[in-house]
Amino acid sequence: IKTIGVLTSGGDAPGMNAAIRAVVRTAIHNGINVKGIMRGYAGLLQEEIVDMESTSVSEIIHRGGTILYTARCQEFTTAEGQKKGAEICNKYGIDGVVVIGGDGSFQGAGKLSALGINTIGIPGTIDLDIACTDYTIGFDTAVNTAMDAIDKVRDTSTSHERCSIIEVMGRNAGYIALWCGFANGAEDVLLPERYDGNEQALIDRIIENRKRGKKHHIIINAEGIGHSVSMAKRIEAATGIETRATILGYMQRGGAPTCKDRVYASIMGAKAVELLLAGKSNRLVAYKNGEFVDFDIQEALAMKKDISEDQFRICKLLVR
Ligand code: ATP
Repeated sequence: IKTIGVLTSGGDAPGMNAAIRAVVRTAIHNGINVKGIMRGYAGLLQEEIVDMESTSVSEIIHRGGTILYTARCQEFTTAEGQKKGAEICNKYGIDGVVVIGGDGSFQGAGKLSALGINTIGIPGTIDLDIACTDYTIGFDTAVNTAMDAIDKVRDTSTSHERCSIIEVMGRNAGYIALWCGFANGAEDVLLPERYDGNEQALIDRIIENRKRGKKHHIIINAEGIGHSVSMAKRIEAATGIETRATILGYMQRGGAPTCKDRVYASIMGAKAVELLLAGKSNRLVAYKNGEFVDFDIQEALAMKKDISEDQFRICKLLVR
């Protein structure tokens, strides 16, 4: 390996900069050149490729977002696009690529690897929805941001004796919702993996809790379960209790990464480069059972994970 390219792809996540920094500095430490590929696979196909020095990644460890920008790129999902990408890597002398992103980005990494470019993936997504790993870059920051915001909504919700629906990110995976359910003591947590659409049961619980003297009722919705604003209107109509929906939205994707995100992202970035130096390709860096490990990309993509039934049960019992 003489030159490593690094890119971020898919949704951004706080901590990606720490991973980029670790890739660049580990490579340079080992006498390897590094090139930053801007805007994910889109930037690769557009040849938006810049040389990176140690100082290119100064002053970024504490910043959210990604200094390399990120994008989605339809062209790279085609065989021609992938071939073009591999040719551009060869043109620039890039013989190793580190891809920081989610499952879609890893599909692309697998394709590049099959075309002879050594490629390693690092899990970067606030959703925690990558099956092979217990940790993904950005989840810790996102869940802390959401927790702080929900605390604030809770104060005003109690003062006004309202019911509050708070929608957090997680289209297909309810990890942010479940963790906030615990951390914020929400009365209800609706997860895309578990919610059966039984709104009447929800309404009955709100009425029952109000009778028991609860001053507020916090419902945390993962975005994947549906339309929080219209749900609030229906609940208000059915219960007579003022009900408001707050959609936290993109604030969950930004902000300074937490200590955990900085540390784990840094270790993963260094590990990715070390795998390339060891002659590995088509691997994903993961954190599993307390250790940093790596998996074959296709095997990792075939793995499944689900919200822990036991954790969900405990979350619910603590607010009853
Ligand atoms: P997030 O979890 O934030 O959605 P992601 O990496 O899963 O991240 P995607 O939009 O699914 O996000 O994928 C990012 C990019 O990866 C796509 O825009 C595309 O360029 C590339 N990609 C996705 N699927 C494939 C595929 N099957 N083959 C090649 N490239 C792919």
